[in-house]
This record gives sequence, C-alpha cells and structure tokens, in this order.
Amino acid sequence: MPAIPRPLLWLLAAFCALPSCLAPPPPILVETPFGGVRAANAEKATEIAALLEDLAPRVQEVLPGSQDRAIDVWVQEKLRVYRFNERPESVRGFTLLSDEFRAKRIHLQEDGQSPWYLSHELVHALIGTSWKTLPGIMEEGLADVVAEQLNPTYASHIRAHRLLNASAFSEGFYLRIAYNRPERDRPSSDWERRIQTFRAETTAKISAKLLPRIFSTSRNNLHEEWPEIPEAFYGMAWLITSRIAERGGLEKLHELCLRAEREGYEIVPVEWIFEAADVDWDRMDTEFLSACFGPGEMRAAAYLQPELFSQLAIDLLKPMWPAFRNRRALFWYVKPALRLSNGSEVPIRSIGPLMGSIFASWNERPLSSAN
Ligand SMILES: [Zn+2]
Repeated sequence: MPAIPRPLLWLLAAFCALPSCLAPPPPILVETPFGGVRAANAEKATEIAALLEDLAPRVQEVLPGSQDRAIDVWVQEKLRVYRFNERPESVRGFTLLSDEFRAKRIHLQEDGQSPWYLSHELVHALIGTSWKTLPGIMEEGLADVVAEQLNPTYASHIRAHRLLNASAFSEGFYLRIAYNRPERDRPSSDWERRIQTFRAETTAKISAKLLPRIFSTSRNNLHEEWPEIPEAFYGMAWLITSRIAERGGLEKLHELCLRAEREGYEIVPVEWIFEAADVDWDRMDTEFLSACFGPGEMRAAAYLQPELFSQLAIDLLKPMWPAFRNRRALFWYVKPALRLSNGSEVPIRSIGPLMGSIFASWNERPLSSAN
C-alpha cells in the first residue's frame, strides 16, 4: 500500500492549499497513547483504536531502529487526502508523509483486513532513518513481513497473496493435482492414483530481468519510476525480505542498511540483498516459485484466486465426465486433490470457493484433451 508520492502532494498542496479542498477528517475521534483514530462512527473508531493500541508498540518492538512516536489514523470509506482525489480501489491504505521519515498520518480503508493493513502502514509511519539505504520496494516487503509476524491468523493469507503476486516474475507456478484415473473394467478402489502437473499463471507477467533495477531503486526514486507500483513488485519484495528474515531476522536486513551507510553507499547494493536472501534473480523460475508454496499457502491461494485453479481442474476432470452420472459421483470416485510440495494432499472438495468456481465455469470450459 504505497505512500502518496510526495511530488504529487507538493503540487496539489501548491495548487489547492484551501481547507475546502482537503478531505474532511472523519467525525468520530478515539484517542489512544499511540495516536488518535478518526472514523465515520464510534464502533469503527473504537475497533481501529484497539488495533492501534495493540499493534503500534509491537511494531516498535520488532522493527529495529523504529521511531518512538504516536501516529494518527483516519479510517475512510474512500481513501483520499483531497476531496477530489480518491485512491484506486486496490489501495487499502497509505501513509501520508510530511517529510522523509516524518509521517503525518495513516489513512486506512474502512473495510478489509485491518490488522494486516494497519501493521503494514505502521511500518511506513515508524521506520527510522537508520533504514535510509534500504531499496524503496523493500520497505513494502518489510511492512508485509512485519504484518505477517504480528498477525499469525493472517500469515498464510499474506504469504499466499504475495506469492501469487510474485509469480508474475516466474511465469507462474506449478500446480499438481492428484486423482484416481478411471478404468472401465476395474473397481474404483483399484484405480491408479495419478498426478497431473499444470502451470498456473496469473494475468500479470513481468520479466525477471527487471528485478535488479527494481531492487536498486531508492525510496525517493521508486514512485518517480513507478507512480503506481504493480502488485507483483510487492510480491517479490515480500519474498526477498521474508527469505532474509528467515535467515537472520529483520536485524540482518537492518545490518545491511547500516553497513551500506558506513561504506558510503546511497543504497544497499543489490548483490548484498540477493545474497542475504540466498537467491539468484535469474533463477527465480517456475520451479523455484512453486517450492515457495507450503501447504498453508497453496490452500490459501486456492481460496484467494479459485478461478486460477478451477480452470486447470476442469481441464483435467472434464474428459472423464462421460463415465459418470453426475459431477458429485465424479468427485467422489476420482478424488481430485491439490498435491502439495510436502507430498500431502488437500481434497478439492474441501475448498468451497474452488468447488464453487469449478461448478460455475464447468459448462463454459470446452472439453480439452488434457488426458
Ligand atoms: Zn506500503
């Protein structure tokens, strides 16, 4: 959730400093020791105030070099700073900066996964100057890794969301579906269990060759280069930051920033980043990305983007259709399941949104010669 690009802010400020241009503050204010929360009604203000009181001190605790300060939060139905300037629907929150490392306020979208979004924005609001050599996009990765650490109930959701985003750079990921292959003259209990591998690709596709440039762009230049940061960048930023955190905690990443500053670099050399994450940017291929999906992430991904999975499942199952009286019988006997990297299986029938998507698009999808 990007902070508003400052050049835009200054321009708008110069053009329209009139109070009438500014979006009005939400009416209801609930104060906390960590900042004031404004929202349209007392219930929402109280809910987010309780979240702020829980999350702000914990962000300060887990984020090395964080600022000890309060930060106000505005909860808005439509995210905006100015009356006439709404942020795109996909943006769920942003942090308004009055200067580098000086946050003015957090804006949070009213509905949605507030623990994730607020934790994320608190990282932008409380990050200290000792992180100034951090590549711009990695602050987004840091914000999501902290959100994941502080909100375990959202962890596999955040991980799956970001892995799906990151798969834009790896030409997708491999989806393995296990199933019992029907055989006319044998009882179903003797049917052979088979695995079909598919390449699952999201609509976004970005060349991995861009990665060194993305990860060597400073905080200041990020929004100049990409005024609207593609979600795929967030995915890769989370993946790289998460791998560094798994191999040495956030302290390891912070230490890279301090070392870069000591050695006179404006930004942490991209080689240090990829080395600390133990990746070669030019080998982050489909197999690499597939191996990043653990059972929890794969299941969450099927909930998040069921259509991505249902198309492939239909391609596999539809040719078997004529052998069965109805789909229920097909699923009962063929037992299609997502085959996970650890060899375990998640029955497709147990993932409601995926079954719904399969049934919804079953007739539209032409019979393919998948098997
Ligand atoms: Zn962000």
